[in-house]
Amino acid sequence: MVLIGLAQLCELLPDLRQAAASQGRSGEVEELITDSATGGNIAERLASLLRDLDGPELDERGGLPGLRPGKPTHERYACPYTPQCGRESERDPSGPIPECHRERHTPRNMRLEA
Ligand SMILES: [Zn+2]
Repeated sequence: MVLIGLAQLCELLPDLRQAAASQGRSGEVEELITDSATGGNIAERLASLLRDLDGPELDERGGLPGLRPGKPTHERYACPYTPQCGRESERDPSGPIPECHRERHTPRNMRLEA
């Protein structure tokens, strides 16, 4: 599912960008973001890029990073962009507001869910 691809990407972006940059493959990461934001299916390319970069494994069983089920006991935050990347995050009581990393140079605070 497309939105899940982008949600995964969002969560992984800081590490992914760093790993890709060190191997001269930054362009591929930005391309994946663009494609996934416009509805492309990036799951396979993302998985193979992660393999190449020796990055974090995607969880194939559906336990996606940033998409944990469970009761909302903390404040929940959602992606601030339109369309949303689908990622949700919880804020630790004393922690910083989670950020969406989709835009490279301007991380945006995620939006507090009602
Ligand atoms: Zn996002």
